[in-house]
Amino acid sequence: MSAAASIFAPDYKRIPYWWEACAPPERDDAPPARIDVAIIGAGYAGTCCALTLAEAGASAVVFEAGALGQGASTRSGGQVSGGVNVQKKALTSSAEDASQQQARMAARLRDAAASMTYIEHLIERHGIDCGWHKTGRLTAMWIPEHYESWKARLAPLNEHTQARARMLTREMLAKEVGSPLYHGAALIERGGHLHPAQLHGGMLDAAIGAGARFLSHAAVEAIERKTGGYLLKTAKGEFFATTVVIATNGHTGSLTPDLKRRVLSIASHMIATEELPPDLARSILPTNRAVSESRRVVNHYRLSPDGKRLVFGGRARFIPASEDTTARLLHQAMLRRFPQLEGTKITHSWGGNVAMTFDSMPHIGGGDGLYYALGCNGSGVAMMSYLGHSLGRKILSGSTEPVNAFDRGAMPRHPLYFGNTWFLFAVGSWYQFQDAREQRRASRRQP
Ligand SMILES: Cc1cc2nc3c(=O)[nH]c(=O)nc-3n(C[C@H](O)[C@H](O)[C@H](O)COP(=O)(O)OP(=O)(O)OC[C@H]3O[C@@H](n4cnc5c(N)ncnc54)[C@H](O)[C@@H]3O)c2cc1C
Repeated sequence: MSAAASIFAPDYKRIPYWWEACAPPERDDAPPARIDVAIIGAGYAGTCCALTLAEAGASAVVFEAGALGQGASTRSGGQVSGGVNVQKKALTSSAEDASQQQARMAARLRDAAASMTYIEHLIERHGIDCGWHKTGRLTAMWIPEHYESWKARLAPLNEHTQARARMLTREMLAKEVGSPLYHGAALIERGGHLHPAQLHGGMLDAAIGAGARFLSHAAVEAIERKTGGYLLKTAKGEFFATTVVIATNGHTGSLTPDLKRRVLSIASHMIATEELPPDLARSILPTNRAVSESRRVVNHYRLSPDGKRLVFGGRARFIPASEDTTARLLHQAMLRRFPQLEGTKITHSWGGNVAMTFDSMPHIGGGDGLYYALGCNGSGVAMMSYLGHSLGRKILSGSTEPVNAFDRGAMPRHPLYFGNTWFLFAVGSWYQFQDAREQRRASRRQP
């Protein structure tokens, strides 16, 4: 490490902090000769799909390219709230008239709330010990105008999602977040944060307990249509399955070229600090809420489950960059929000992939025995788990009817997008510039 790397603790690691308590495991179960449902990807979506299928007696086998859960599901910020992100996207993404848009948004919000209920029940039913703090989630306002526009969003959110959302003025927020940067916040009481890898580990145990089988380091290299099902060519041999589920989210690649054109894989980054003195940790987040921001290029943060570290994330770079580079950028962003953390060292830095879609919505769909659950758009702890479960239910029912509001129509694609996100650097940099400009203007207007 270079001399300028003084932000790094002596025990600094380029792996998710979460893996210290729960590293993605390996597994090599023997699949049956004919698999009912082969699931590709062992993140939340694939694992919950397998759990639902196995509980109903179907043979479900999950093929994972790496260790189980090594994708986004054991790397996230672990922030959870049902509805906020779906609403944000619904408001900006539809060409329908106002009443259609409202009805569609209401249905999506109800299902986003169902995703929250699903994850709460899952944790409770399987006794998953995953540091679940239902302490609420804040969206901190980057500029005063965001405060006003968020106010208008709370009524539908409360009506359809039981979010128990309310606005906090700048003065009220001072008791919640020890940063001078924000212009108030929206508080979602029905939210909080958890340990994402322990959640995944608990799901995995539940799915295995129900009879689902898992193969790690078993990348699926080809899917061939055959009479009565599909032949899967994998790193661990060939297998026949009646039905196939694609649950590859931000890792969707050339295995499924059509789906690859419908999702944009984007890197997101995180750091964890060394243990903080209790007073310093309390000065940052005295009420232990999870925090996200209203700006375009969002930063988000929360305390670790034991309350001792700050876990801070965001899109640090829009081109591939090392963990050390993204750690430096996130460290700067962290100090900007919390100058009191000057001198605090970083112990872990890592990144992961999320999947954005052209309508900014998650989707389940497919047919003819080949289904998908994709497109978390940055928020998938509850949503992708729920969509995996919903897809399991759909397959079990054998019905072609939509099972929820995210099961409607194909994922859109763009005629000029073929799966290469070369343009992200320009778009992301422009957004960052706009965020900074708006913030400068807002602070000049500050009395
Ligand atoms: C840094 C970061 C922070 C985040 N913070 C939050 C947050 O605070 N709150 C929130 O709600 N969401 C957050 N997210 C998003 C959330 O983590 C994801 O939405 C969720 O984990 C997606 O789960 P998944 O099962 O769909 O995909 P993943 O967990 O990514 O799993 C997909 C799996 O498919 C496997 N795969 C791909 N191709 C193949 C193949 N050919 N054969 C076999 N396996 C294959 C991959 O190896 C991968 O393990 C964050 C994501 C990141 C990266």
